[in-house]
Amino acid sequence: MSEFNESDVRAEVRAWLEANWSPDYGLVEWRNKLIDSGWGCPHWPREWYGRGLPVGLVPVVDEEFARVGAVGVAKVGIRVLAAATILDHGTDEQKRRYLRPSLTGEEAWCQLFSEPGSGSDAAGAVTRADRHGDHWVVNGQKLWTSGAQKADFGLLLARTDWDKPKHAGLSYFILKMKQPGVVVQPLQQMNGHATFNQVFITDARVEADQLVGKEGGGWAVTTTTLMHERRSADGLRHWGMAANPRPGRIYQEERAEIEVALAPYKWYPNRAGRVDLVLPRARETGKIDDPVVRQEIARLLVLAKSAEWTARRARTAQEQGRPQGPEGSLGKLAASHVARTAARVHTLISGADALLSGPQSTMNGTIAEILVSVPATSIAGGTDEIQRNIIAERVLGMPREASVDTDKPFRDVPRNQVG
Ligand SMILES: Cc1cc2nc3c(=O)[nH]c(=O)nc-3n(C[C@H](O)[C@H](O)[C@H](O)COP(=O)(O)OP(=O)(O)OC[C@H]3O[C@@H](n4cnc5c(N)ncnc54)[C@H](O)[C@@H]3O)c2cc1C
Repeated sequence: MSEFNESDVRAEVRAWLEANWSPDYGLVEWRNKLIDSGWGCPHWPREWYGRGLPVGLVPVVDEEFARVGAVGVAKVGIRVLAAATILDHGTDEQKRRYLRPSLTGEEAWCQLFSEPGSGSDAAGAVTRADRHGDHWVVNGQKLWTSGAQKADFGLLLARTDWDKPKHAGLSYFILKMKQPGVVVQPLQQMNGHATFNQVFITDARVEADQLVGKEGGGWAVTTTTLMHERRSADGLRHWGMAANPRPGRIYQEERAEIEVALAPYKWYPNRAGRVDLVLPRARETGKIDDPVVRQEIARLLVLAKSAEWTARRARTAQEQGRPQGPEGSLGKLAASHVARTAARVHTLISGADALLSGPQSTMNGTIAEILVSVPATSIAGGTDEIQRNIIAERVLGMPREASVDTDKPFRDVPRNQVG
C-alpha cells in the first residue's frame, strides 16, 4: 500500500504552488527552486531532487502546475534520457555534476549511439575509446545524432575492448561536445528541419570519471537509455513546446528557449500524427459527413485510445515497483501504428491539399509536415521491426533471432568497417 494518495498529493502541491509560484521569476531561478522542492521531478528519489512519488501520481502534479500556469523543469530532448540514465547508473559525483543543469535547461545533451554501420544493431558500434593513463581517447563517427548542434554533452557508446564478444567490449561515456576533436555537421531532413547531425570524433578526450557504469558494462547502461527512450515514445509524452503567450518574465524566457534551444524539435508533435487535429479538420472541411471518412476516423480514435490505455497500463506496472522493461516496445510500436494511421486519415480529409506547404496552404503547411514527419516514428529509438523482435523474444518468450556475431571476439566479426 503506497504511503501516498491522490488527494493529499494534490493538496500538498497546490499549497506549495500558492506559496511559491510567480511568473516574475527568471526561468533558471524558478527551476532551481523547483528542483530544491522536489516538485520538478516528483517521482525521483528524495535524495536526488524528487519526492519519491509513484509515477502514476505525476499527472496529478502536472495538472496542478497547468492550473496555475507554472513552468516545469526542462523536459525536452535527450536531456531526459541522460538524466534517467545517470540517475540509474551514475556515481553520486556524476549525479551532483550533471542532473541539476540538465533540469534547469542550462546544459543540453545528445545521444551518440547510431553509426553509419550500426543503427538497429547498436551493439555493433566501432567508435573506439582507448585508455591513455588518466583519460580516454575517442575516435569514430556517429550518425543521426539529434540535437548535437546545441549539445554540451553526449551519451557516448564506444568500444573499449576488441577481444571481448560484441556486447561485452562496449563502455558508456559522457563526452564533452565542445572540444576540438568533435565536429558536428547538421543533416537536412525531408520535412525541412535539421534535427539530426553526423558527428566526427577525432582524438577527443574523455576523463576517467566520465565513464558511466563499469568499463565493459556499456551495453547494460545503453539498454537503460533505450528503454526510457521507448517508453517516452509511447504517445503519453507531451512535448511542451507550445509557447505560452501569458505575460511575465518567466514566460518570455521560456518562449526564447523554445525559439532557440528547442527549435530542432519543433516538428516532434507532428511526427506523432496529430490525432488531435483529425476531428476539427473533418468538421472544417465537411468530411465529417462522409460515411467512409467517418469510419476511418472512428478506427483511428479507437486505436489511439487503446494505445494510450496500453501505455498507461505499462506505467502503472512500473508504479507498482516493476522496473522499466520491454513493455516500452509495445507502446512505441503502437504509437508508430497510430501515427501512420493518422497520416492516412489526414490525407483522406484534406485530399490533395495535404501536399501543400507554405503560408497559403492548409493550416500553414501543418498537414504536409505531418505526412513527411510520421515515418520518423517508425525508425527513431529502434525501428518497428526491432520492437517486434524484442516483443517476440522478451515478452512472448519466443526463440531468439539467430546470431552469428555474439560468441566470438568482436575483432574477428566480419563487418564493413575496419575498427
Ligand atoms: C527522428 C530520429 C531521431 C534519431 N535520433 C538519434 C539520436 O539522437 N541518436 C542516435 O544514436 N540515433 C538516433 N536515431 C537513429 C535511429 O536510432 C536509427 O535510425 C535506428 O536505430 C535504425 O537504424 P538504421 O537507420 O541504421 O537502420 P538499419 O539498422 O540499417 O535498418 C534498416 C532496415 O532493416 C531493418 N532491420 C535491421 N535489423 C533488423 C533485424 N534484426 N530484424 C528485422 N529487421 C531489421 C530495420 O527495421 C530497417 O527497416 C534517430 C532516428 C530518427 C528517425
